[in-house]
Amino acid sequence: MKYNRPRIKPIYPLYRLDKTYFRIGAQLGITVEFGDPEGQLYSLASKLNGQKVSDIVVEMQKKFPELTVDDIISGIDLLDENNVLEETLPDETDEERYLPNISYFSRFVGMNGNRFEVQRKIHESTILLLGLGGGGSNILTLLAGLGPKKIIIVDYDRVEMGNLGRQFLFREADVGKLKTEVAKKAINEMNSDVEIEVHNQKIQSPEDILQYTDGVDLVICAIDEPPFIIHRVVNKAIVAADLPCVFGASQVSRGRVYTVIPYVTGCFDCLNLNFSKHDPKFLDQFVGFREVNFNPPSIAYGPGMFQLVSSIVDEAIRVLTRYAKPQSLGTQFEINYEDGSSFTHHTWPRFEDECPTCGNGSAEDWQIFQYYQNKGIKYD
Ligand SMILES: [Zn+2]
Repeated sequence: MKYNRPRIKPIYPLYRLDKTYFRIGAQLGITVEFGDPEGQLYSLASKLNGQKVSDIVVEMQKKFPELTVDDIISGIDLLDENNVLEETLPDETDEERYLPNISYFSRFVGMNGNRFEVQRKIHESTILLLGLGGGGSNILTLLAGLGPKKIIIVDYDRVEMGNLGRQFLFREADVGKLKTEVAKKAINEMNSDVEIEVHNQKIQSPEDILQYTDGVDLVICAIDEPPFIIHRVVNKAIVAADLPCVFGASQVSRGRVYTVIPYVTGCFDCLNLNFSKHDPKFLDQFVGFREVNFNPPSIAYGPGMFQLVSSIVDEAIRVLTRYAKPQSLGTQFEINYEDGSSFTHHTWPRFEDECPTCGNGSAEDWQIFQYYQNKGIKYD
């Protein structure tokens, strides 16, 4: 039979509105209402509690002798089409700490899926995290809670008093210590399942990253100094290593997330080409910005930063597990901290013939790349 032990997802309530209508779910956007004047569907739904489907058929036919097996199965189909059913699976984990995550994933998994599978994929993943600043340190905290197999961290800074308002991995007593060392200890105490490998290093070339990419499944880029230039360096490395990378950057009161999957989506250099082709002021803006050597004070309001950080980590989990569709593949997902709104920029394509990094193009053909030269950064 098509179903084994179907049940209403335990994350949803099943309740009657009156004699003819009932609902499954209570949250706006995922509540389904069914008209059911004879009470058959409600009766069926209330039996979907993990018992065997053959037993459900027997019980239903006892109560409603006119129903055929096909009628009952099509009732289950109807509920399944509304994504409120799941197969009852033996608890594949005794790791209580992950069960709330698994319940969340059940929202996105239907009868043919396995919510434990999403968590299992996370458990098997190795993530390379670049940077432990306002973004990276909080990304690390969220990642540790999700329980990947291993996190490799690269950062070169020490904890400063000015970090403590938003980098909650660090304590007052940590001021002056290397962030990597403090982070390793903190995460070991938070989730001892996660293996932590740290490297004290300032990233200044793609090679600095490529030495750590063996066995890595996904990279998170939480460094943005020098602006733009460092993303180009990271992009070159992740394309060379053929690894997906979620990039995050915070501005004054907005943050952006974008994801590059090498040879599938456009890469960061493809984005440069896209702007060069379509935005007549791009080069002037880029050069003008560069010329002033803009060096703003650290801008990071914790509540705003957390909106960005949450999106980065969720996107990383989407890319790794595909529990839901990633939102920033070849596009920039932008979050406005001022009102919590978000939108997606136009996607940019992969320029296979023209991109110097993920395609067959040459950087010399594009004026923009000459402005990426920067003291101390080795690109080619
Ligand atoms: Zn490219």
